Amino acid sequence: MRIALGGFQHETNTFVPETTGWVDFNTAGGWPPLTLGAAIIDTMAGRNLPAAGMIDEAMAQGIALEPLVWCQAEPGGMVELAAYERILQLFLEAIVDKGPFDAILLDLHGAMVVDGIGDGEGDFLRRFREAVGPEVMIAASLDLHANVSQAMVDNSDFMSAYRTYPHVDMAETGRRVARVLFDMLRTNKRLGKALVQLPYLIPIPAQCTLSEPTRTIYERLEGLERDHGVQLSFSPGFPPSDTADCGPTVIAYGAGTHHDAERLAHLLAEHVLQAEKAYSDDEVLDDRAGVMLAMSLAETATRPIILVDTQDNPGAGGSGDTTGLVKRLLECKAKGAVVAVLFDPTAAMLAHEHGMGARFDAEVGGRNGPAGVAPLKETFEVVALADGEFQGTGGFYAGATVDFGRLALLRIVDSDVAIVVGSRRSQAGTQAIFRHLGIDPGAQKIIGLKSSVHFRADFQSIAERILVVKSPGYNTADPSELPYRRIRKGIRLRPTASL
Ligand SMILES: [Zn+2]
Repeated sequence: MRIALGGFQHETNTFVPETTGWVDFNTAGGWPPLTLGAAIIDTMAGRNLPAAGMIDEAMAQGIALEPLVWCQAEPGGMVELAAYERILQLFLEAIVDKGPFDAILLDLHGAMVVDGIGDGEGDFLRRFREAVGPEVMIAASLDLHANVSQAMVDNSDFMSAYRTYPHVDMAETGRRVARVLFDMLRTNKRLGKALVQLPYLIPIPAQCTLSEPTRTIYERLEGLERDHGVQLSFSPGFPPSDTADCGPTVIAYGAGTHHDAERLAHLLAEHVLQAEKAYSDDEVLDDRAGVMLAMSLAETATRPIILVDTQDNPGAGGSGDTTGLVKRLLECKAKGAVVAVLFDPTAAMLAHEHGMGARFDAEVGGRNGPAGVAPLKETFEVVALADGEFQGTGGFYAGATVDFGRLALLRIVDSDVAIVVGSRRSQAGTQAIFRHLGIDPGAQKIIGLKSSVHFRADFQSIAERILVVKSPGYNTADPSELPYRRIRKGIRLRPTASL
């Protein structure tokens, strides 16, 4: 069996004005930059990424993989057509150079939107299919935040999405996809398949699989798989992506016909429909209310209160430099508060130039966020400095080396509020950010994090309370506030209680 391996991940927030280009796919951050050929095997070793799991499963079964191309860019605005075509060409050339193949394993996201094309993965899989022909089996892993289209299902033989948010099962999902593909190759049988798109959007903070109703939906999914011998995926979707296919989906694959798969997909979709009322109860606080509550809780708390700056989560396309939450903490005179990570490479550079203990006046952050966001104009004191390359802790990073660029911990003079500034737009998904700067996150009173849910994989265990708050940012917590134009007609833009 000759099997190729590749990866191309982007989660596109179409409401972000800046586009995502070639350079963004070539920049390291939480994950590696664009990698070609055999180097992919070493780059993936030990990482919690689907391609890593695919490689592990192949090794365990004594199957050799031929790596083609692997790349991702931090979630952000529309992918530029030129960058997309250039990456697609790398894949198509590698298929010709290294092929022919019996099968292709792909590590995809499922919510990529390409300027001038729309459905990124639908187009990618269609053109891949055209290049390799109808006989070659194509299997792909998807993010839990995939917005799955019919074109994606039609142009592949098997897809499976992560089942955890925080995504602690990315490598495990890769292993599952490889296992199913290898079985299909051995039996030379394709599976019946079906897609069901659901009629309401689920806000990102409510998608966490550690809490209800999402947790129970995945329990039901696994129950149906056991009872019926099928493979199911539920993707709650990526709401800030204005495409016809935006929203939650169920996909099903089974040994029977497409009709059988459809019946099973509808059984799981029924559970998602029944969860709509529970989803409508999920609470996101106004940032002032959140800060006031955090301050009162912090008076007696023995562990940190975490304020989740979900709307500026870089992992969902946030600019990572909005200043709303920091300004609220200053206005409310919060004590012992620290916010991470505010993206500002200039501020990080200035801090490193000035050195430990120095004070300097600067305008920090607030340059890339939505209209109305302004920099912090303050005097800052340099409390700690670090190079930004460290081992990520918690199940999301699973010990992989991350590169946030130069970091600095800055205290805002005449306050008890500090910020971690970083040189790359990176989600605050690991306690290691703080330890790398020499501070113990568990000893802080109030921690603000630019993340939505991934931080929970490492911070939930040290938090007294977690409060999700709304400060300005491109990852709008309530999708019904977004100015959609392309989304399919009839979809409810938020979960509705009274149906
Ligand atoms: Zn995701």
